[in-house]
Amino acid sequence: MTEKSKKVLLSGIKSTGRPHVANYFGAMKQYVDLQNDYDSRIFIADLHSLTTVQNKNELSQNTLDLAIDYLAIGLDPEKVTIYKQSDLPEVTELAWIFNCITTVPYLMRAHAFKDAEAKSKEVNVGLFDYPILMAADILIHNSDIVPVGKDQKQHIEIARDTAEKFNRIFSTEIFKLPEPYILPSVETIPGVDGLKMSKSNNNHIPLFSTDDEIKKLVMSIVTDSNGGVPVNVYNIHKLFRDEEYLAKLYKEHEGKYKALKEALIEDIIAFISPLRARREEIAKDPESVRLMLKNNAKKLKVEVDEMMNKVREAVGL
Ligand code: AMP
Repeated sequence: MTEKSKKVLLSGIKSTGRPHVANYFGAMKQYVDLQNDYDSRIFIADLHSLTTVQNKNELSQNTLDLAIDYLAIGLDPEKVTIYKQSDLPEVTELAWIFNCITTVPYLMRAHAFKDAEAKSKEVNVGLFDYPILMAADILIHNSDIVPVGKDQKQHIEIARDTAEKFNRIFSTEIFKLPEPYILPSVETIPGVDGLKMSKSNNNHIPLFSTDDEIKKLVMSIVTDSNGGVPVNVYNIHKLFRDEEYLAKLYKEHEGKYKALKEALIEDIIAFISPLRARREEIAKDPESVRLMLKNNAKKLKVEVDEMMNKVREAVGL
């Protein structure tokens, strides 16, 4: 199939720190697995990151790091267009246009906003408007599918609603309705305490952790003392081994939590160490990674401009 006839896959990750194992299994692995079948565009959501990271050096370092991470997990730069969100400022223009057709009560129903409010955080306007910038990211490419974890499902629904609303108000067919791509087995991956793995819960295993970090984190997995299957250990373990293998292992070591944690440590290290080695190699040449990002943005700009011309024309700008 030629690039033109392939469907468009789009997804991105915030550059707010190191990606973790749940980002990988919940979303990033799907980018790799699907890279031959789609016209894939994977971005670094540095504009979204600004809602929480407000330090120049930290943000730009995180952004470069995430580009290196994408390459290290096996995204092939010949097949996937990896780019930086802020290199396509047209998405912010489109987000503004979408803002003008979106009501405040509608956005107040977003889970991410409600969670932030419940934690009584000072919610900035950027965080409140997060789903609309995400809708612009997705719709500007006429994306067909968006691989994400379950926590992002509502945001894809918001993108679909926004596309429909825009098409209706301005009597056009400009925007296509994207579909979420969520694998049920990894839709919400738990962390070391059994709650959803996330940086903000501080219960995550970084994807490129050192052996010592892995040992410490696995040893800190919360287990109960009833002697049954240590659910929190098992739920992380099943990311790395199939259920048949685990059934045997957990039977053999019934009630022996330490031995099971040691087996998990071994399996995580076996998985992460080649990724880490590849990452170290790629990180030796940050300039070519930066150049790749710039060139990819240039390439996408042609299509994005075409799309924005249609949008501006449709709304009368
Ligand atoms: P973010 O860090 O919010 O940019 O998330 C990047 C991707 O990882 C998104 O597609 C999320 O849905 C996914 N993700 C984050 N945490 C989890 C989790 N605990 N389980 C499954 N997917 C997740």
